[in-house]
Amino acid sequence: MPDSHDATLVEVVLHVQTLVSNRAPPNAVYDAVVDGALRLMHGVGGSLRLVDLEDPSWMVAVATRGFAGAGERWRRRAPISEGVSGRVISTGQTVVIENYASADVGSQLAPPHLKSLIGVPLHERGRMIGSLVVGWPVAGRLITETEKALLKSYSEHVCAALSVATASNAMIQAYTDSLTGLGNRALLLDRLEHELVRADRGGESVTVLFLDLDRFKLVNDSLGHLIGDQLLMAVAERLRRCIREGDVCTRLGGDEFAVLLADTSDPAAVAERIIKSLRSRFQIGEHEVFVSASVGIASGREEADILLRNADVAMYHAKRAGADRYARFKPSMHAARLSRPGLDTELRLAVERGEFELHYQPIFELNTGRIAALEALLRWHHPARGLVAPLEFIPVAEETGLILEIGRWVLTQACSQFAAWWREIPLAISINVSVAELQTAGYTAAAEQAIAGAFPPSALIFELTETARLQDARGAMATLHSIKDLGSRVALDDFGTGYSSLLNLSHIPVDLLKIPRPFIEAAGRGGHDTSSLLAGILGLGRHLGLMTVGEGIERPQEHALLVDLGCDLGQGFLLGRPLDAVHTTELLMTEHAKFQPRRA
Ligand code: C2E
Ligand code: MG
Ligand code: MG
Repeated sequence: MPDSHDATLVEVVLHVQTLVSNRAPPNAVYDAVVDGALRLMHGVGGSLRLVDLEDPSWMVAVATRGFAGAGERWRRRAPISEGVSGRVISTGQTVVIENYASADVGSQLAPPHLKSLIGVPLHERGRMIGSLVVGWPVAGRLITETEKALLKSYSEHVCAALSVATASNAMIQAYTDSLTGLGNRALLLDRLEHELVRADRGGESVTVLFLDLDRFKLVNDSLGHLIGDQLLMAVAERLRRCIREGDVCTRLGGDEFAVLLADTSDPAAVAERIIKSLRSRFQIGEHEVFVSASVGIASGREEADILLRNADVAMYHAKRAGADRYARFKPSMHAARLSRPGLDTELRLAVERGEFELHYQPIFELNTGRIAALEALLRWHHPARGLVAPLEFIPVAEETGLILEIGRWVLTQACSQFAAWWREIPLAISINVSVAELQTAGYTAAAEQAIAGAFPPSALIFELTETARLQDARGAMATLHSIKDLGSRVALDDFGTGYSSLLNLSHIPVDLLKIPRPFIEAAGRGGHDTSSLLAGILGLGRHLGLMTVGEGIERPQEHALLVDLGCDLGQGFLLGRPLDAVHTTELLMTEHAKFQPRRA
């Protein structure tokens, strides 16, 4: 039925075109090209391989679908003398294989469960740029002329739409590590961001492994860079064999690699597999080389760079614990890196160079879904290390006293930004303060000055964490009382963990209780004890006349539970991530339009 085929052809081509015009990441476009071919041809597996611009005797698989089980055959880069793809590219012809097992195609690249295959060439302006292959699980499948014509027609449309040759090859280059053929850091960050968006929708987390070879420098220094490079290529090859379809394996530079896992159920098993496979001897020319690797694992839904840094920090821990092992990231690990010499100098410079920025996370009224407040969260754009999370540098800033200067910056910056927003939509803003800041003379006066009459002081909330130290911290309690006199509000952050305990509630003037993620996560997972603990904390808050805020809401069931238990406010990745000022403005504008329709 040519009509129904035509309809599908238009549909799938349109889908690819839409992705291209929406500037979807190249990998999403490549995947869509293969998916489209599978839909058109009712195939179960397929690949898109493009000729390597730098070396046209090689091709690079930019997308594969249904390739699980390809095992050792799977190679991202392969010479064009191999496989059905290679045959298509080297002959420029459509290739039909009705019995793959006995086909003479050099080495086989596709998994053995694909038994019949068809491959068509991709041309751009007469030049061969790659191949598109589709396979079926039955041998001897008769591939009709109509089907051949359909796939050819699809590939032509796709080429024209993509202008694949120039654009995509440039993309491949921009996303490929030229030494190993693995993806590079740009690819990793791109895919990470992609996964984070997906994770947000499904309430899942994303897992990344950070791998660093042990003693690589020794090999490089003693055997020379050439051997070092060959070793890195061989390591890349072993890594490829340890990962699954859908995982993204990249080299970040030097002897550092990272893997983004598609299946996050057992990252430790993947780490172990990698570590084990690297332990066995490498034969590089006439040299026998032994290396091992230290791997850090980080899971979560933090921003891409932060997640990657967390995995890096965990890797560093694995190394310090004796190398040749893996470690999972824990926030407390940051502390071990803190004493790193030079960080305090860098922090000092950061203030001068204006490397700080505030992001804002919306806090929602749980029963209406409206935004009630924004929490200002500090970010440090380190010139070499990228985005650094506050848990990594706030403790150092506190130790060195730099927190006073930084905190003052946060206060003025948050207030002046907030003044502009408040005019449009009257919310509250909360900022995090350290106890040391409260001990400085004139803190409340500085706050009043920062508000500068632009919004009522009651819209400003101060979040405190280390409440246990408050009583001993000279002057801090007095400052808290003067903050209250001013009309501003105080929140107990991370209530119930570490230092901020129930006892403190009677001594400290508090308006809000912030309940940290661990309580909410545990309760969200079910279990009577954990949800009654959460219900108890919320009941206590109500009893004392405090507003309650659930933090770190990542999953729909956590959100539902908090609504059920009558928690007043909530924040978390599920509801809204911390955003920079520009994106926060956009968010507030949408919010404004939603709830306060402009009067005609
Ligand atoms: P906090 O005040 O409890 O802030 C909430 C933290 O949870 C933020 O991390 C936020 O990005 C993160 N978060 C939000 N939603 C979710 C979620 O759904 N899941 C998970 N897993 N996390 C979520 P961030 O920005 O890394 O800040 C960490 C801590 O650093 C803050 O914890 C606060 O104690 C401190 N901090 C941040 N900015 C400042 C500041 O300007 N001054 C001071 N003194 N401390 C700050
Ligand atoms: Mg906070
Ligand atoms: Mg908190």
